[in-house]
Amino acid sequence: MTIYKSAREIAIMKEAGRIVAECHALLKEKIRPGITTKELDGIAEDFIKRSGAIPSFKGHQGFPAAICTAVNDVICHGIPDSRPLKSGDVITIDVGASIKGYHGDSAWSYAVGKVSPEIERLMRVTKECLFLGIEKARGGNRIGDIGATIQSHAEKHHYGVIRDFCGHGVGRSLWEDPQVPHYGHQGRGVLIMPGLTIAIEPMITNGGWKMKVDPDGWTARTADGSICVQYEHTIAITEGDAVILTQL
Ligand code: MG
Ligand code: MG
Repeated sequence: MTIYKSAREIAIMKEAGRIVAECHALLKEKIRPGITTKELDGIAEDFIKRSGAIPSFKGHQGFPAAICTAVNDVICHGIPDSRPLKSGDVITIDVGASIKGYHGDSAWSYAVGKVSPEIERLMRVTKECLFLGIEKARGGNRIGDIGATIQSHAEKHHYGVIRDFCGHGVGRSLWEDPQVPHYGHQGRGVLIMPGLTIAIEPMITNGGWKMKVDPDGWTARTADGSICVQYEHTIAITEGDAVILTQL
C-alpha cells in the first residue's frame, strides 16, 4: 500500500534527509587511500547519533552496520570491514537515518584517490541517470517513466542497469511501496501524486546487470566482475518539481 505524506511529515523527512546529507559531507572529507570502511562506519554512526537520529540500517533485517559500503564490483549491501581503501577504488556509501520516526536514505559513489577515466565516465553517467529520473518524478507521470528514462540513458552508454535492487517508497518504514525499478516502460506502473516520498537509486555497471551474493548473505556483486556505482536521493513529490530531501 502506498502511503502519501502530509506537509508536516515531509518536513520531518527533510530533517532526517539533512542529517543523511551532512553525514555524506563528513564522509566525503574522510575518504582517502588507507582508511577502512569500518572506520567510515564508525564515523557515520557517531555523527548520526550525535545529530539525535538513529542509523536506519543497523539491525534492519539483521544488517550489522550503520552504513553499507560497496567497493568496485560490489553493487550494494556491502558490510564495512578492515580492508584499507586504495587509490583507484570507487566506493559507494549508503546512509540512512531516522528522526521522529521518519527515514532519509541516500547513497553516493566516491572516487578514492585517482580513478580511471572509465570509472569517472561511469560515475558521471550514473549521476545523470539519477537526476533524469528525478525530473520524471512528477505528479501525473507514472513510476515506469522514471525507470524507462534511467534505463535508456544508461544503455545509450552501453552500461548495465541492475535489476535485482530497486528504489522504493520511504517514510515511517525504510522500504515502503511502491517499488521504483530503474528500468521499465514509459506510462506503466503506479501513478505519481503529490505526497509520495520515494528513493531513486540507480545502480549502473560498466558491464552486465546480473549479480551474485557473497556467502555472508549480504554483499551483492556484479556477476561479471564489472564496476558498479550508485547515486540515490530521497525525494518528495509536490505540485511542481520534486523536492530532494537528502541534499544540503
Ligand atoms: Mg540507500
Ligand atoms: Mg534506498
